[in-house]
Amino acid sequence: MERTLAIIKPDAVSAKHTGNIIDIIENNDFNIVRMYKTKLSKDQAERFYGVHKGKPFFQELVDMMTSGPIIVLALEKDGAIKAWRELMGDTNPANAAPGTIRNLYGVSIGSNATHGSDAPATAAQELAFFFPDL
Ligand code: UDP
Ligand code: MG
Repeated sequence: MERTLAIIKPDAVSAKHTGNIIDIIENNDFNIVRMYKTKLSKDQAERFYGVHKGKPFFQELVDMMTSGPIIVLALEKDGAIKAWRELMGDTNPANAAPGTIRNLYGVSIGSNATHGSDAPATAAQELAFFFPDL
């Protein structure tokens, strides 16, 4: 069984989409291994998104991710990394397929409802960031 890191971002938490997104996760047969609510510090957000440092949207991304509480989840399923990326849809909600989470709950590329690890190495790194006991 593969594991991936999912985040319900501040825009979706403040819009009260948490329950609906967890429903989608469970309806798609992911096992929620761990889950908690937290608020990122600027330092944590900058470290978590370190790969994007220097890009034009970096500051906006850090500001958005620290703007309110988030829900972090360790998800488990066969092929979890790809399955969760597909369920989220395209990074830009305007391009996200109908029925995907970003199509349903994303409002813009900067406020796109959820995060998902993009590969096995990043999933391991991101899971360790939020769930060091796993
Ligand atoms: N992002 C943004 N503007 C861009 C590209 C990305 O605000 O032009 C934000 C967006 O919220 C995205 C996050 O930065 O989810 C990380 O970007 P990435 O390319 O890794 O997209 P993801 O893996 O989240 O689909
Ligand atoms: Mg990414």
